[in-house]
Amino acid sequence: MSSSTTTSNVLLIDLHVKYIQSLDKKRDTLEYWITEHLRLAGVYWGLTALDLMNHVDALDRDDVIAYVKSCQWPNGGFSGHVNHDPHLLYTLYAVQILLIEDAIDAVDVDKIVEYVSDLQDKETGAFKGDEWGEIDTRFSYSALSCLSLLKRLDAIDVPKAVEFIMKCKNFDGGFGSTPGAESHAGQIFCCVGALAIVNSLHLVDGDLLGWWLCERQLKNGGLNGRPQKLEDVCYSWWVLSALSILGKLHWINKEKLFEFVLSAQDTESGGIADRPGDMADVFHTVFGVAGLSLLGYPGLKLVDPVYCLPKHVIQRRGLAERYKV
Ligand SMILES: [Zn+2]
Repeated sequence: MSSSTTTSNVLLIDLHVKYIQSLDKKRDTLEYWITEHLRLAGVYWGLTALDLMNHVDALDRDDVIAYVKSCQWPNGGFSGHVNHDPHLLYTLYAVQILLIEDAIDAVDVDKIVEYVSDLQDKETGAFKGDEWGEIDTRFSYSALSCLSLLKRLDAIDVPKAVEFIMKCKNFDGGFGSTPGAESHAGQIFCCVGALAIVNSLHLVDGDLLGWWLCERQLKNGGLNGRPQKLEDVCYSWWVLSALSILGKLHWINKEKLFEFVLSAQDTESGGIADRPGDMADVFHTVFGVAGLSLLGYPGLKLVDPVYCLPKHVIQRRGLAERYKV
């Protein structure tokens, strides 16, 4: 179960491609079944990593599209796997996957727009994740990203959505999950990304937030998500993408971060772990690869910091450069 002890100072692309391909062939393992509710997310993480590594064809396109379609509900939303409940997060993953495959017309887009816009609270502008009503800035990002990718931001109250996000801004320049909740790198990515999508970055306190973000880099080169926490490869994405949107990517030490992410690779079975020595998973694999892409690691396609999709996908949608600091 443990990862290999040898390390590599280059990205082991062939090994990571094989690792992602192998994930669907583990149906006889317990791990496969306990993560069933995450399956659609896993496809998005795996496919994005593959595309950035120039191997999008490593997963069969027809199979991917058919699987995504099988997760759509009559109300337009998507679930994490067939026969699970629909949720906003999985609805965004479905749209992202279909855009990578250039196959958005395979599903009922109007129904998706209806599903997402129905989740906005008309009074506060916040978004619920599903019919049960939990509110979180992650859902604000998911809704704005999803509708922007579908070019249907007109379906919601954008000024209200922005108003809610700004209520979640803290004195340190960061953002939390709800008003009053502490700043957290994942939530900062969501809020800064959401504001970028609707051309409202002027509302961000760029220098103050930039400092908070670059202070996330620890001596070993890795980044943490909050003060006093351990470094973690997935934060190389949440922190870097926010810094990139704010035009401050050069505020962190790129070489040290390269070293940290590459040292978290499994040099025997492929995949990237949260930190060196831990077990690899597809979540940390995509965010490790995306972080390296954002820093210009050679041989990778460029990633878009706002949509967390390969840049060429965003350009194909005609959405490039719609956000500027
Ligand atoms: Zn992590």
